[in-house]
Amino acid sequence: MRIGYGWDSHEFKSGIPLKIGGVILPHNKGLGGHSDGDVLLHAITDALLGAIAAPDIGSLFSPSEPKWKGADSMIFLQEALKRVGNVGYSLVNLDCTLILARPKIGPHAAAIRARIAELLKVSTDVIGIKAKTPEGMGTENAAIAHVVVLLEKNKPKQSRSKSDKPTTVAAKRS
Ligand code: MG
Repeated sequence: MRIGYGWDSHEFKSGIPLKIGGVILPHNKGLGGHSDGDVLLHAITDALLGAIAAPDIGSLFSPSEPKWKGADSMIFLQEALKRVGNVGYSLVNLDCTLILARPKIGPHAAAIRARIAELLKVSTDVIGIKAKTPEGMGTENAAIAHVVVLLEKNKPKQSRSKSDKPTTVAAKRS
């Protein structure tokens, strides 16, 4: 088993769409950033990469590279998922907490959960989405995401050759 943890924050800016967890949410501001600013997908990507001790999102997709300008963060998530598969692991479950003053996440939590499950190729019952407001933190103009993931090693594929037939119980001892 492997555990992974990811964290990210992005600042709200006017004039851009708000994307969280791969879902566009109705709001008068979006999250700034070099890519599409999807704070939740970035934290999930880092949690997956961290679980397999791979380089982090900023090392793999440098914000100084023009090719990632405005990029769909789904690309980052898919690369992390591919790397997890390459070293023989699968996602057991994911839990996240979003911290933002507005908009309320509750009405959109089911859509975000479904989209993340779809992107990670798992069922929705292993994706936890929670949201809090930043009471006393002074981060009203930011969205923050914390994510933990648990991975398990894939079982070796069963061979169907004759030698792998179940063996009968050894003869009784005398
Ligand atoms: Mg980010």
